[in-house]
Amino acid sequence: MVIEKEKLKAEILKNLKVSFGKELSEAKDFEIYRALGETIMQDIASDWYDTEKLYSQQKQAFYLSAEFLMGRALGNNLINLGILDEVKEIFKELGIDYNKVEDAEEDAALGNGGLGRLAACFLDSLATLNLPGQGYGIRYRNGIFNQEFKDGYQIEKPETWLKYGDVWSVMRPADEVIVTFGDGSVRALPYDMPIIGYGTRNINTLRLWEAHSLNDLDLGKFNQQDYLHATEDRTLSEDISRVLYPNDSTDEGKKLRLKQQYFFVSASLQDIVKKFKKQHGTDFSKFADYVAIQLNDTHPVIGIPELMRIFIDIEGLSWQDAWSIVERTFSYTNHTILAEALEKWWVGLFEQVVPRVYQITQGIDNQLRQVLAQKFPNDPDRQNRMQIINGNMIHMAWLAIYGSLKVNGVAKLHTDILKTKELKDWYELYPEKFLNKTNGITQRRWLLESNPQLASYITELIGDGWITNLMELKKLEEFLDDEDVLRKILQIKHEKKVELAQYLYRTQNIIINPESIFDVQVKRLHEYKRQLLNVFQIIDLYNRLKANPNIDFTPVTYIFGAKAAPGYFVAKGIIRLINEVAQMVNRDPQVNEKLRVVFVENYRVSVAQKIFPAADISEQISTAGKEASGTGNMKFMLNGALTLGTMDGANVEIVEEAGIENNYIFGLTVKEVEEMRKHGYDPHVPYNSVVGLKKVVDSLVDGTFNDLGNGVYGTIHRLLMENGPWQQADQYFVLEDFEAYRRTQQIINKEYKDRMTWARKSLKNIANAGKFSSDRTIEEYANEIWHIIPAKL
Ligand SMILES: *Cc1c(COP(=O)(O)O)cnc(C)c1O
Repeated sequence: MVIEKEKLKAEILKNLKVSFGKELSEAKDFEIYRALGETIMQDIASDWYDTEKLYSQQKQAFYLSAEFLMGRALGNNLINLGILDEVKEIFKELGIDYNKVEDAEEDAALGNGGLGRLAACFLDSLATLNLPGQGYGIRYRNGIFNQEFKDGYQIEKPETWLKYGDVWSVMRPADEVIVTFGDGSVRALPYDMPIIGYGTRNINTLRLWEAHSLNDLDLGKFNQQDYLHATEDRTLSEDISRVLYPNDSTDEGKKLRLKQQYFFVSASLQDIVKKFKKQHGTDFSKFADYVAIQLNDTHPVIGIPELMRIFIDIEGLSWQDAWSIVERTFSYTNHTILAEALEKWWVGLFEQVVPRVYQITQGIDNQLRQVLAQKFPNDPDRQNRMQIINGNMIHMAWLAIYGSLKVNGVAKLHTDILKTKELKDWYELYPEKFLNKTNGITQRRWLLESNPQLASYITELIGDGWITNLMELKKLEEFLDDEDVLRKILQIKHEKKVELAQYLYRTQNIIINPESIFDVQVKRLHEYKRQLLNVFQIIDLYNRLKANPNIDFTPVTYIFGAKAAPGYFVAKGIIRLINEVAQMVNRDPQVNEKLRVVFVENYRVSVAQKIFPAADISEQISTAGKEASGTGNMKFMLNGALTLGTMDGANVEIVEEAGIENNYIFGLTVKEVEEMRKHGYDPHVPYNSVVGLKKVVDSLVDGTFNDLGNGVYGTIHRLLMENGPWQQADQYFVLEDFEAYRRTQQIINKEYKDRMTWARKSLKNIANAGKFSSDRTIEEYANEIWHIIPAKL
């Protein structure tokens, strides 16, 4: 964007006065942040309007997602507009610390983890590629909780990003719609956020819906002096968009959750149909030529019967006509094969909350039954397995596949597992629907913004084409044997490690040594991700260092960051265990020069941006077959960390691109896990035979560690060592993989000493990270699923 520096400065000062009634000298950082945000919103308004008009002529893709984990917008917007340097200069002239102003922004944390962050990266890529694509979601008043530690346990504190409103959103009251449930209606009020592309005038939109009551105040009750009940309806309605469900990869099956899903999906579809009619009238036979809708996991799948309802009940189409449009409009992304994540709704609840949509779902199910009876006449078992409504439950993934044009997994390995195992029945019925779309991340946020030092050095070496074409990083291979370049790579990494150390000292009063190896595992806390394997290795390392203080050893700092779902007892116990190990290690002068452990509090996007650039080692150690893709692994790679991982998710493709010799792969493969399950895995075998492992496992229950009486360490011990009614002992193969993991850690510790060889591996990873740009992912969706084409202002 071309705006004059002096004009920009004057606008900021004016907004400060208009919005807060202050001169610069009196203003707080937060107020300066807001004034700057307002200035940007004013300056982009015209391009935003023009983009909307331009896109309305095109086929558009609508990305429906219950989560958008956006993080902060200011830095990203300034970079994408190309005015970050100007703003920094202005602030310098005015004597303002830009970093403090940036820190005044709260994360828009409307998501749990990878799924929500993927949606955010996709929006950035859509805008940058000038693609007509918009996001639709929920404007949760409270995003993912803020995490604090008390006695090493996680405490959840409410997150309140909207406390003082939000400078990046514009309310659009004229586009309000009504959403009707079995027990009444609510108003869905949209707020639009601009999604500013890099190096383009195009500005896309994320539309988030907020729930409101039809009758804000019941005057009858109010007049009877019944104050509380007078606002009851308002409170109940507003509850729908009140809070994000904090579960990652688990399904709660709660009524409010179903209401949230139907609320934002119905509002979005009404909006899409309204826009279509405005452009094309009521000839809905053309609908799928102008509209593609992507369902991010099963959360918005209720959209399939809802669009049927709109077409049949409101627009007067026949069932057949409606279905032939619907089945060409939607596509579905599967994000997991974990059984506990597969959404199923109890029919009683579903019928109560959305009675008409339930009837239509029954109709779709009946239609599918006929297809199945015809396709598999001699296989009643299979016909049963594939029914959408089965017993008392509605299987949302089956509804998604049946009602969609395309179904995709999120990494090659994941899609293969879907085709050959989890969704085998469906793949055999509809092979043409299935395809893979390996996830990606936006290099604008995860390199250009997060690691400006590395970004400008790369630009110095190969030019800035990588910012919009990440495959250009391949040109860095030319410098693999250039010692000056390798030294500079190491120097930048060191600088980022110092910055992270300073941040941790400032925020958590923790001292770490930037000369040590930064070995990092940041992601949601889940048993399948195996933070437990990581901390077991640390306990064993501690035991070995205590027994033999003089072993040749490169100092290591283990860094964790993770939120646990508030109701996930075992995950919270693992957080407590890591914190307890951290205390034990960090306070022990016999080892704390060599080993430190840090748990970063309240891991979120803004903190992630400080962590990824500072990592030497990227821990991606899930049980093979369990992590659909992972995207954290890609952010690490792009910033030059080496992957310590299993052959799972996108790790497989990372080593395919960068070379297995430039990363550290260990552990059971998907096939080996399957074999062990089949032939019976007994964790007592590694427990009794792997040196040191028994001592580590026993320490959970022998008094070494203390769970303060809540019993969680005993539970973890039991899950590892005993078969339970629901699962086999050590179902995630922590003990089985322990020895291979420890051996790989030891190799890393030795190889880190050879700094030039390490730097070469690091550069090799950066140079081959091109595939993992979300620009590549989005281009594939655009070409192979949505069939949309760029339209540039
Ligand atoms: C990228 C990201 C994730 C996803 O991490 P995985 O390791 O892929 O699970 C989760 N949370 C935040 C804040 C992220 O930035």
